[in-house]
Amino acid sequence: MRRPLVAGNWKMFMTSAEARLLVSEMLPGLTAIQDVEIVICPPFTSILPVAAMLEGTQISVGAQNMYWEASGAYTGEISPAMLAEYCKYVIIGHSERRAYFGETDAGVNRKVKAALEHDLVPIMCVGETLEENESGKTEAIVSRQVREGLGGVEIDSIPMVVIAYEPVWAIGTGRAATADGANQVIAGIIRRVLGEMFSLSLAQEVRALYGGSVKASNAGEFFNQPDIDGALVGGASLKINEFVPIVRAAAS
Ligand code: PEP
Repeated sequence: MRRPLVAGNWKMFMTSAEARLLVSEMLPGLTAIQDVEIVICPPFTSILPVAAMLEGTQISVGAQNMYWEASGAYTGEISPAMLAEYCKYVIIGHSERRAYFGETDAGVNRKVKAALEHDLVPIMCVGETLEENESGKTEAIVSRQVREGLGGVEIDSIPMVVIAYEPVWAIGTGRAATADGANQVIAGIIRRVLGEMFSLSLAQEVRALYGGSVKASNAGEFFNQPDIDGALVGGASLKINEFVPIVRAAAS
């Protein structure tokens, strides 16, 4: 049984004062929900205050990125060892990092391995651009991202990995994929590749999220799909009247 998971990616929003206010407003609604793993991924500067507020609840903290080295002369970077003190999860290879900060599949692979070595659960993002989608390259792109992102990962660590299918054209656009279309990519490409790389049973164990313009009004359609285990939520995770109902939809 794959436990549902909903992660909120706050991106580069919220000062720490704003973050504390938002968490205090969301906590009563979120803590009332059972049977869903809930993750909040604030910017680095809000990880500590948010982690302190979530202590003793069933809600975890995640980071939005990290470097792969444990320590060293890497000015401006944050290491997995530093994150592991406060976070359970880390988003890796988000399309905004691939597009604006030059992240490659090879870098994503190093980060996934480093996260696992530090007991952080990597939420590895994959997804095709609009141009790739329209030219029929979804399968080639997504399967390459899964193969290269997870190449050489210890087989024992695979059940811990979470994969988020986030078509780039759906992120922040208000134009979500269809639930059926997202399920087909996850079942027919992501789980198939996992089966080829590791085993068919491990392919069924890995949790796969959908991300891209998920909101309260469409979340249930995604969660009703057999291969979608939850969502990575961007914009709507900053809105209490969106995020709480999205998490509630994952529970039912
Ligand atoms: C994201 O940032 O991962 C995301 C899915 O954004 P949004 O929900 O705003 O499309």
